[in-house]
Amino acid sequence: MLRTPLLAAARSPRARAVVQQLPPTRALVERFVAGEGLDDAVAVTDELVGAGRRITLDHLGEDTRDAAQAAETAAAYERLLGALKETGLAERAEVSVKLSAVGQFLGADGERVALDNARRICAAAADAGTTVTLDMEDHTTTDSTLGIARELRADFPWLGVVLQAYLHRTEADCADFAGPGSRVRLCKGAYQEPASVAYQSKREVDLSYVRCLKQLMRGEGYPMVASHDPRMIRIAGQLAQWNNRKADTFEYQMLYGIRPDEQQRLVDTGATMRIYLPYGGEWYGYFMRRLAERPANLTFFLRALATK
Ligand code: FAD
Repeated sequence: MLRTPLLAAARSPRARAVVQQLPPTRALVERFVAGEGLDDAVAVTDELVGAGRRITLDHLGEDTRDAAQAAETAAAYERLLGALKETGLAERAEVSVKLSAVGQFLGADGERVALDNARRICAAAADAGTTVTLDMEDHTTTDSTLGIARELRADFPWLGVVLQAYLHRTEADCADFAGPGSRVRLCKGAYQEPASVAYQSKREVDLSYVRCLKQLMRGEGYPMVASHDPRMIRIAGQLAQWNNRKADTFEYQMLYGIRPDEQQRLVDTGATMRIYLPYGGEWYGYFMRRLAERPANLTFFLRALATK
């Protein structure tokens, strides 16, 4: 019931100004975000890698309307990848990039700017010996993001893409992207989408997730199972077994701060477990989507607010 207003607030500058100033916000944000600086990101990556996790780092930011800001985000990724290379963490840590943070929405030139900036990030990742995965945003960007991904994959064949099971189109996209060498991160989807393009009930989304997972596990690529849902995780394990996949031919992924015990359990079974680790000052949209996903997070937030 609260998902719709929370997701609307995630895109509202007025709501952003209010929420960012609320006293309990910082403590809750720290549950989901490594910190604001590059040093925070590297320190938390080091700690998690020490505990057997792989990492994908997200330099927070989205919906950039300013070319200089988009270029600065690409530069921040270059600095991050340089630090991962220097510390030896690049072997276990890659990066995730939102194309809207590197220029996709900059008017008529947006796609070209985003492609150029993403290319810079991919080149830095190649130099560091690691990979990049393109996050997926709302459905109005899917064609553009997959188009840019196809262009980048000509030079960087290891580039990963995210596909969202709540979209009607995704089964077909999975078939397209399940070829040799492909890396596909399958998630349920975090945005508010209309019924014309997306399944609306959890049951329909879950069924779609399983159909997509079947395609990816049968395919010749490297499936990345991004879910905290115990049922999806169980089914992924079964499908991997039925398709004779070894532990190093697919991986589980979860968001930083969510279900750490389950993350550890999967590591203990010998599975590859990657944590999506955001850092930076632009945490607002990411944080609101996490509140929208789970009423318990919102309750915690409101309770902290009431005691201030
Ligand atoms: P849900 O249906 O939200 O939850 C199902 C069950 O999982 C719950 O009933 C509960 O048992 C368990 N669970 C979920 N959350 C918690 C919690 N906090 N604590 C305890 N149990 C919990 N979305 C996008 O749209 N684009 C992206 O690019 C994107 N990238 C992502 C990358 C990664 C690595 C991950 C993990 C998610 C990403 N998402 C992305 C978010 C995703 O789309 C979902 O919104 C989010 O993962 C919640 O869906 P779920 O599969 O965990 O299941």
